[in-house]
Amino acid sequence: MYLGVLLNPVYNFNMENTPIKAYGAQSAQSSLDQMPIVRRQLTATDIEIDILFCGVCHSDLHAAKNDWGGTVYPVVPGHEIVGRITKVGSGVSRFKVGDMAGVGCLVDSCSTCASCKEDLEQYCLTGFTGTYNGKDKHSGGRTFGGYSEKIVVDEHFVLKVPKNLDPAATAPLLCAGITTWSPLRHWKVGKGSNVAVVGLGGLGHMAIKLAKALGANVSLISRSPNKEKDAIELGADQVIISTDVEQMQAAKGQFDLIIDTVPYVHDINPYIPTLRVNGTLVLVGYLGGLEPMLQTIPLISGRKSVAGSLIGGIAETQEMLNFCGEHNIVSEIELIKMQDINHAYERMLKSDVRYRFVIDMASLKG
Ligand code: NAP
Ligand code: ZN
Repeated sequence: MYLGVLLNPVYNFNMENTPIKAYGAQSAQSSLDQMPIVRRQLTATDIEIDILFCGVCHSDLHAAKNDWGGTVYPVVPGHEIVGRITKVGSGVSRFKVGDMAGVGCLVDSCSTCASCKEDLEQYCLTGFTGTYNGKDKHSGGRTFGGYSEKIVVDEHFVLKVPKNLDPAATAPLLCAGITTWSPLRHWKVGKGSNVAVVGLGGLGHMAIKLAKALGANVSLISRSPNKEKDAIELGADQVIISTDVEQMQAAKGQFDLIIDTVPYVHDINPYIPTLRVNGTLVLVGYLGGLEPMLQTIPLISGRKSVAGSLIGGIAETQEMLNFCGEHNIVSEIELIKMQDINHAYERMLKSDVRYRFVIDMASLKG
């Protein structure tokens, strides 16, 4: 890193560049534990944020366990970050010290490719820089996520947090919120749309709230009959238990859009008949090959689509946050201490989260 500092004039090394506390995994087998990390010094367009709250996404668990391959250790997860700005670079124009700010899954992209020019930084053709486990263009090292005291991020990737929202419950909007908002907007969900959400977890509960606020009729498709009451309270109009063949048959031809948030391989064939003609099932949860194989006849005979969607661009994330501010939408959260993270992961694996763990970062700093 020292060499990078000497070669890069915007990377001013000084004695403030001291280690800070973070929580991370040293290998796929190890649990998360305290470890020191160093943040880069501020460039002219950088912002330093004192992290107050960080949501716990199932992707954090996938990354810590290397479920998708490609995790570089040590990894410090966390991409649902809300905090207070403590420093700004000389060229920062949209934020000032003391502002509340959010950071989601992206901290950099090329800014020149066709996707970036369309505000679709998540589809940057040269690859976006993830908030964790990414390659930091400035320091040359890896990016570390929000399970830490502070973060340094270019202002383009920093979001304004509506003042009326509870900051802890706002943190999950930065990933669970935008990941479900983006397909709702892309497939033009509005008044009278019929939307189904598969899986009631972090993403699923935000999908229900956002789709409802956009005016849709919303159904939850779940394996868990014990979540039915919660789903209705969150705004669902009906709950379909995916293992109940009769209930699934009764939903035939209903949905314009199905948002599937299930994190592991599962059979999506039973959901296709519940789509209307021209309907789309969008996968946001599972990354990998579909098993059993996808049958095409039900797709072809109704011009139905199976699609995928990745988080959302920065402008779209700000749009979602503003919408949540106007409609008073936040996540349902269980506030935990940093030291409880390994237990939280165990519970998340059992779908025992109502509906997002959020870490109170005071527990790490104290
Ligand atoms: P979560 O809170 O653990 O919720 C997942 C829900 O899926 C569970 O509550 C459960 O709901 C259902 N489920 C879990 N295992 C299942 C299985 N084997 N079969 C069927 N249903 C199952 O997870 P999350 O944080 O919402 O994340 C969901 C997935 O989205 C993760 O894989 C995460 O990595 C991914 N993700 C993707 C993006 C993106 O940009 N595309 C962004 C963020 C996260 P029921 O009990 O109701 O069935
Ligand atoms: Zn996430």
